[in-house]
Amino acid sequence: MTVKQSAIFLDRDGTINTMPAYADAAFDSPRVPADFVFIDGVVEALQQLDPRYALFVVTNQPGVAYGKIAHEGIVVATNDLMTRQLKQFGVIITDVATCLHSDNRARVVNHNYYHPACGCRKPAPGLVLQLAQKHNLDLSNSWVIGDRVKDVAAGQAAGINNLIIVNYEFSANEVCSFAKNVASMKEAVNLLR
Ligand SMILES: [Mg+2]
Ligand SMILES: [Zn+2]
Repeated sequence: MTVKQSAIFLDRDGTINTMPAYADAAFDSPRVPADFVFIDGVVEALQQLDPRYALFVVTNQPGVAYGKIAHEGIVVATNDLMTRQLKQFGVIITDVATCLHSDNRARVVNHNYYHPACGCRKPAPGLVLQLAQKHNLDLSNSWVIGDRVKDVAAGQAAGINNLIIVNYEFSANEVCSFAKNVASMKEAVNLLR
């Protein structure tokens, strides 16, 4: 019998990396890999995680749909840069799952990515469930760490009860009644000990 792996599902923007400012947005997802910058203390916190957890990143990236990110390859390259840099620090991201869709018809300029109900855009649980099946994960012993209610709601909808929201300065300062609310990744990691 195969033992199922426990996992931690991390949101990306505003949880692992900063949200840079652009001319049309005070805080947005990085639009090119060069704009990807780790939040202070996050890498050091992730290095402290118990290695029994496999790490995954689950991210909504509607920037291609909105015409803010030039093409899908930029999102992949940014994810790859993150994974590569974390690996250099000894933090292994097993897999990254991305939703490129938007249901916001008024904002979408690239209609290939318009989807009114894709099932993978958080707060839907699709990305978490895909990863759970692909990697044989034990969701009852897994965690979600994000900066928005939609991140932990996606985990809850997938059947995960261990939910944490971190609030950094570029976050929406959302407080969640069904998650633990902390001020940093370091505090989040301490809750997992
Ligand atoms: Mg986020
Ligand atoms: Zn989607």
